[in-house]
Amino acid sequence: MALRFFNTYSRKIEEFESVDPSTRAVSIYTCGPTVYSRAHIGNFRAYIFEDLLQRHLELRGYKIHRVMNITDVDDKTIRGARQAKVPLTKFTEQFKTAFFEDAKTLRIKRADEFPAATDRRYIDRMIEMIGELIARGLAYQADDKSVYFRINKFPDYGKLAHFDLTQLQSTGRVKHDEYDKEHIGDFALWKAWDDEDGDVKWNSPWGPGRPGWHIECSAMATALLGDQIDIHCGGVDNIFPHHEAEIAQTEGVTGKKFVRYWLHCAHLLVDGQKMAKSLGNFYTVPDILAKGYTGRELRYALLRVHYRVPLNFTWEGMQEARESLGRIDEWLARLQELVGSARRADRTSQRGVPTSAFEEALDDDLNISAALGYLFESIRETNRAMDQDQLDAASAKAWLDWWKRINTVLDLKPETEIAIPVEVTQLAEQRENARREKDWKRSDELRDQISELGWEVRDTKDGPKLAPSGAA
Ligand SMILES: [Zn+2]
Repeated sequence: MALRFFNTYSRKIEEFESVDPSTRAVSIYTCGPTVYSRAHIGNFRAYIFEDLLQRHLELRGYKIHRVMNITDVDDKTIRGARQAKVPLTKFTEQFKTAFFEDAKTLRIKRADEFPAATDRRYIDRMIEMIGELIARGLAYQADDKSVYFRINKFPDYGKLAHFDLTQLQSTGRVKHDEYDKEHIGDFALWKAWDDEDGDVKWNSPWGPGRPGWHIECSAMATALLGDQIDIHCGGVDNIFPHHEAEIAQTEGVTGKKFVRYWLHCAHLLVDGQKMAKSLGNFYTVPDILAKGYTGRELRYALLRVHYRVPLNFTWEGMQEARESLGRIDEWLARLQELVGSARRADRTSQRGVPTSAFEEALDDDLNISAALGYLFESIRETNRAMDQDQLDAASAKAWLDWWKRINTVLDLKPETEIAIPVEVTQLAEQRENARREKDWKRSDELRDQISELGWEVRDTKDGPKLAPSGAA
């Protein structure tokens, strides 16, 4: 079966075909962070979904060119800088740094480019596009000196969100009074400078001001990826008005279909509620790390639910993520040991060879739940086969190779291996001797000493194993 995605534009699952099917090149534009505060785990859920998308396409042999923009000028960043009494660039810099730090913690692949809206090159492109839209009658300068997009002149406006124009009540980020505009839904392309903007302004044919948020993405996407791109992603809250506006602006200038596939990630809830600072359930990546969880565990927790299903974040969910990863680690260790032993099994289990079920599940609109279902079913069955001596070294090797392949998508390799301290190893040896002599009291004392050093001994079928306390 071919690769297929749910396209927000058509509201249908569609087979994937790139703009230029003669090559394996695929362009992806992903709306990035607005750097006015540290991104929260809901933002990162969307970035992890985009990471999964890129990695799966790469596994399937596509060559990805991905752009993620940084919104470093808008109402929120300007307000933040003013309140902090620092220049805009200084204010946004700290959150850019934090964003890259958190993305690294979560093992999110870097985009090929991270254009910033305030880059002169893109400001020029925005001004050029706005001039073009005015020339075509698709935009106008209102009495407040701002420039607005004339949505009544763009018949497809509302097609992405499946919106009826007459239902339009609010257009989000419009700052000035509505009566300056011809239609309540007309959105700002260029916002005329006012006192509150301080020294944040650029000159334009319409006077000093700054770009609207939507035109930033149209300008950066087309400047870096061309007039037509394969996939455009974001969170569901980006659909309207942001992505709707991006289509109107871009197609208004180029006259060509802007995006082939629109993919949107559902919300993240915390304990079944919308995340909000006022509810005390608002978490950033460092908040989760401070609770003792790793980036790898959070990555797994944010990755494991299908991107179109709302993800309910809970601490029990984090614990489950830890346990699932523990199962994977244990399984890998067993397979490695079996490969090392070069053992031959008397009978070979049916699960001797991995199938392509994992990749095929991801082909189906990135069905990660089904893909992980296959992984854990395989773990269960190969473990059973190993228990019954029905898996040979060659099969174990095949499973390890398979893991290597799917892990290019999952990126769940264990955090750097923790070396076992010599003291702990010695205590474990003494304990083994005590057990051999059936000195159970001494054996228990030694176990307690090991535990005090932050380690635990597990007596397995293959002898005692040491693990850091608390590692599942
Ligand atoms: Zn955007």
